[in-house]
Amino acid sequence: MKIGILGGTFDPVHFGHLRTAEEVGEIFGLKKVYLIPSNNPPHKKDKYITPFKDRLYMLQCAIEGSDILDVLDIEGRRPGYSYTIDTLRELKSERYFGKNAEFYFIIGMDAFLEIETWKEYRELFRYANFVIVKRLGYNIKNIEDLLERLDLAYQKEENGIYHSKETKKYICLINVTFLDISSTKIRKLIREGRSINFLLPEKVKNYILEKGLYKDEIN
Ligand code: ATP
Ligand code: MG
Repeated sequence: MKIGILGGTFDPVHFGHLRTAEEVGEIFGLKKVYLIPSNNPPHKKDKYITPFKDRLYMLQCAIEGSDILDVLDIEGRRPGYSYTIDTLRELKSERYFGKNAEFYFIIGMDAFLEIETWKEYRELFRYANFVIVKRLGYNIKNIEDLLERLDLAYQKEENGIYHSKETKKYICLINVTFLDISSTKIRKLIREGRSINFLLPEKVKNYILEKGLYKDEIN
């Protein structure tokens, strides 16, 4: 059983996340792609983050209408910082998907380039295949250079596909529909009183407006 995972702060979720998850799910024949909001992201320690329950609710609204997307609040149930390695370990335990689950961890180039700062990052590659997708301002060369430097014992098979004989895992760099949308951009538009139409699902937009999220400078 092939399972996709897209972790993030999702503050707020937008069409960049959703379309990426949906397309990767189709391309790799995944049974489901789980969007997993970080409860307490270690790399955003000094920043204000919208309460977990609001971000979770927006995600639940956002996936309506997709057969493949789903949301898991696994990090919301764990105290302390949310580390991906802990999540993958928990997901590997049989009570989630059984013994035969194969994980595809979806990640943008920007986030992947920071991977060395993640807890036990080398271990992550033992637990999941990685699917790396483009973000504005980053190119494949940055990623290839990093992979070389990390020296994780992957062999380059063909363009954008790396395979490890030892772990039997893949790293794939792929193109999906490129949407230059970020949560940072959406928060900024709201602060400036500008429109966020057509950047995220209508229901998410309405929740943001109803709750008055992202209006203050702290964001
Ligand atoms: P912020 O601007 O607050 O960092 P973000 O838009 O980058 O927000 P995150 O929650 O940080 O969203 O991202 C979660 C994951 O989704 C990361 O791996 C990120 O690279 C990826 N991602 C975010 N936006 C896009 C997009 N437009 N296209 C593809 N991947 C994306
Ligand atoms: Mg980000």
